[in-house]
Amino acid sequence: MTPINPSGLWKKRLGDWVINPYVGCEHGCYHCYCPAMPGVKFNNDGHRQRDWGKYLLPKHGIVEALREQLRNFTPDKAKKTEWGDGWVLMSFLTDCYTPSEAKFKLTRQCLQLLLEAGHKVRLQTRSALVERDFDLLVAHKKQVLLGTSLPYLDDALARALEPRATAPTRRLKMLQKAFDRGLEVYVCVAPFMPFHDEVVMEEVLQSIEPLHPREIFCEVLNPKGDNIAMMREALAVKFPAEAERMTNYSPESWAKFTWQVLSIGLKKNNRFIPWPDTQRFWKTHLNSKQTKFLDAYLPSKSMREEALSA
Ligand code: SF4
Repeated sequence: MTPINPSGLWKKRLGDWVINPYVGCEHGCYHCYCPAMPGVKFNNDGHRQRDWGKYLLPKHGIVEALREQLRNFTPDKAKKTEWGDGWVLMSFLTDCYTPSEAKFKLTRQCLQLLLEAGHKVRLQTRSALVERDFDLLVAHKKQVLLGTSLPYLDDALARALEPRATAPTRRLKMLQKAFDRGLEVYVCVAPFMPFHDEVVMEEVLQSIEPLHPREIFCEVLNPKGDNIAMMREALAVKFPAEAERMTNYSPESWAKFTWQVLSIGLKKNNRFIPWPDTQRFWKTHLNSKQTKFLDAYLPSKSMREEALSA
């Protein structure tokens, strides 16, 4: 097992490297596209996308393997990448503070090893369980960025769509506590929902303003695998109007809605960072001016210059 692996997520300014202590995530968010990603699909003992949230495979042995890897994988080596900032993202294909982390403590042990070795760690979680590890984070505050997703602040809606994650208003409080302890924070307005609008965006942006987030990322709900069908089913009983608004939500409408939402966000906040997928598909749905504008958010200087001179 190689715990830390290179990651393409630097293209979203999230990190050059990623470490996932678990396969699966007990939060079971219906929008989640992790179960449709190869890193999960081929390592999940044959579970289907619809089983997401119902299984968790802890990577027993990851702590020992990480200790071994860190003998050679130094912070200097971590910086030798195209983006070159060396952040290790924890995690991408799971939530490193999935509820069973309270028992297994794999995240805490890995985090401790990484921080003591001098690595910079970006923690991404939808769980207030991270507060358990504030002692470690505060002791290494210059090496840490803590972020959560706040696509909206409606706890009832979140209960329907992210059934076992910490409620968004509680996640906001968790970030506030982190900020009060001197930790640098960031926020992902993700996934922004097709039935939401400028008012919801404004509410989220205002709520996080006092935390001076280092970055505000945004991604519009991305249709992958069965996630849209599962969300519509989850919304049908208590949120029928929202379920209806998702009828016919497709990759095409995703591309158009993404541009609308990013335009709103960029007008409202200059720390707003779009997460466009700079792939051919995306570009077929935008004009060249829009594409060039979004490409300018690519993190590496050479990529940005190349995009702007195209
Ligand atoms: S918390 Fe993150 S990884 Fe877990 S189900 Fe939700 S979106 Fe997926």
